[in-house]
Amino acid sequence: MTAAGPPFRVMAPLRIGAVGLSAIMEYQKPGPVAADFFTGFDAERLARHLPDLPAGHFDAATGRIVMAFQTFLVRTPRHLILVDTCCGADKFRPEPMPHPTAAWLEGLHAAGVSEADIDFVLCTHLHVDHTGWNTRLERGRWVPTFPNATYVFSRAEYRYWEKLARSGAELPRVSRGIWEMNCLPVAEAGQALLVDDGHVLDEYVSLVPSPGHSPHHVCIRISSGGQEALVLGDMVHSVLQCHAPDWSTRVCWDPDLAARSRRAVLQEAAERRSVLLPVHFPAPTAGRLSAAGDGYDYRFVDTCVLARTTPRVRIRHLRVTNAFRKRCVQAHTRRVAAAGAQPRRRGRAHRTAGRPSSPGRPRDQPGGFQFVKRRPKAVGRGAAEFVVWVRAEDAASAGDGPTARTRCGKDTNGRTT
Ligand SMILES: [Zn+2]
Repeated sequence: MTAAGPPFRVMAPLRIGAVGLSAIMEYQKPGPVAADFFTGFDAERLARHLPDLPAGHFDAATGRIVMAFQTFLVRTPRHLILVDTCCGADKFRPEPMPHPTAAWLEGLHAAGVSEADIDFVLCTHLHVDHTGWNTRLERGRWVPTFPNATYVFSRAEYRYWEKLARSGAELPRVSRGIWEMNCLPVAEAGQALLVDDGHVLDEYVSLVPSPGHSPHHVCIRISSGGQEALVLGDMVHSVLQCHAPDWSTRVCWDPDLAARSRRAVLQEAAERRSVLLPVHFPAPTAGRLSAAGDGYDYRFVDTCVLARTTPRVRIRHLRVTNAFRKRCVQAHTRRVAAAGAQPRRRGRAHRTAGRPSSPGRPRDQPGGFQFVKRRPKAVGRGAAEFVVWVRAEDAASAGDGPTARTRCGKDTNGRTT
């Protein structure tokens, strides 16, 4: 019997030029207590930024950050790539980070991908929760989970953990046996490629040195069509660290170096308008940075693309035909695709088109507009009168809808239009 899939929201698929990005979730759960976990933690700063955190990212009752464990599936025109492989199965009894892991494989298969399809596995660093599915247990032996993949490791990171493992030094429980279970069997199978920290895999994928959390942590840059995404690995564990980039963690190898790397990576990402993919952020996960004070605001891609960056206009008592509504959707889809994100699926706004919506519903609706009121009587076949929220550019590029004369009210930033 198959276990149920993960009961979590998962990041919506994205496109970066010709490259598709999606997430495979292993699990998410309340993790460490923020006050204990972050070096330089400051309760006043936490309180200030808590309202910025989306639901499900912080457990206010316990003070714990909620952490996702996920892998990014990268489909370039050439290769199928996994970045970071969560905790995996059967590694410890009891597991040091006990949570169900079966959903991960189901998620991979649900994405239409089999283990044999993977061309490359990249690890931002060689910690327990980023290398787990590198291997699996087969008749008592660890074997590579992905038989046809080349596993790309930072040479220096690999050597660091190899040396520690061979020294017989007592390691913390979460590091014990990781290299032996998750890395060595890959090398013994001839599937490990040890590279420099700035290695360029091809025109789409390259490594960005970002040491500190681990000795040779790297971020993974994905570039295509003038756009860019950056898998952050463990540069950040919570949105709070974007607001307070100097907060490293107690599990960082060198917290000061980690903070310097974090600042450098975040600054560059903000300047380049990179889409960030932080492994431990629950859905919607992906986002962009904008400078704010001595840190950054993190805007999730699905909200910054659809909701808050562009004002929408209220169009009142508008005769909306199905054809016009369809053109709005098409315009929205084109615009979102051009912005490098996945259009929202046909959702509630579409399904309820033609029926009144409940008052007070959020305005951020699939398709970029919302029907908030319907006059009692439909006006002819395929038409009705609504109050709608529609993004101005969608309405404008939808062609000759009756928007120009009837646009009124205030936009969502409060300006009169
Ligand atoms: Zn991690």
